[in-house]
Amino acid sequence: MAHYSMRPKNGELVETGRIQLLLQTLYARYEPLILRVLDATLRFFLKVKGRFILIVLARLLNRFLPTGEVVTLQRATDFIDAISGLEKTQIAVGPCRCQESLGKRKGTYIKDMVILYGAEAYKRASDEYRDLSPEEAKKLLQELHQEGLIPTFYACMGSGGWTFAICSCESEICFPFRAHQAAGGVLHPGPDIVALDSESCTGCGKCVERCHFGANRLVNQTAEVDLTKCYGCGLCVSTCSGEARRMVKREDYHNRYYPIDLVSKASAH
Ligand code: SF4
Ligand code: SF4
Repeated sequence: MAHYSMRPKNGELVETGRIQLLLQTLYARYEPLILRVLDATLRFFLKVKGRFILIVLARLLNRFLPTGEVVTLQRATDFIDAISGLEKTQIAVGPCRCQESLGKRKGTYIKDMVILYGAEAYKRASDEYRDLSPEEAKKLLQELHQEGLIPTFYACMGSGGWTFAICSCESEICFPFRAHQAAGGVLHPGPDIVALDSESCTGCGKCVERCHFGANRLVNQTAEVDLTKCYGCGLCVSTCSGEARRMVKREDYHNRYYPIDLVSKASAH
């Protein structure tokens, strides 16, 4: 099996076709330009209050361009463990494509983690990408979590068969996040959701600061969560001073891009 041409399917990794690899490589090559055009379009329609047009555009483009599923740090590192036994581990890292394309800097710059056939596609498209060992990948994910970034599995074509990256997103520069806030449909909730024990809440407010989705608020010095806004990143759990939060399985979870079957299968062995 070619080391770079695999994608998860029903818990198995299968060989990726040459056309898929070529298309992903082309996308990786022109991604900075695509991001600049999309960002200018987003800013233009927000300025002229053309939100309806943005929603229509998003519905059309989301079929082809990367869309994401939010996961916890634990889910992301479980995935790294699941693929670490492969003949050649398929993880690479390069500059944050949003920061690079839009000429903005915030926090860690070398954080665009590409996986499976995506690692090969991005290395072919740009010499700024280098291989990462599983241990390096897990360490980087941990650091990005501490920085307050959201691990998100991204795929093109709206298909888990095209999952190619674990981006660590935030709400200020990250284009997919801003596009999601403006038009919806770009990001999807992951397998977990937060559970809050109000009795243990100290009212410190860290969860309000930490959540990029605006799911938390303080009412009379006690946290409240709007579960309809929780995407399941777990960022509020690790900084909760009262240990009042934990992640639980999302009842209405619809799996899109996180290769949950692959991870479950690997952890069962
Ligand atoms: S409430 Fe917590 S787990 Fe849910 S999206 Fe916000 S930070 Fe993430
Ligand atoms: S971080 Fe924890 S203790 Fe602090 S306000 Fe939020 S739920 Fe309460």
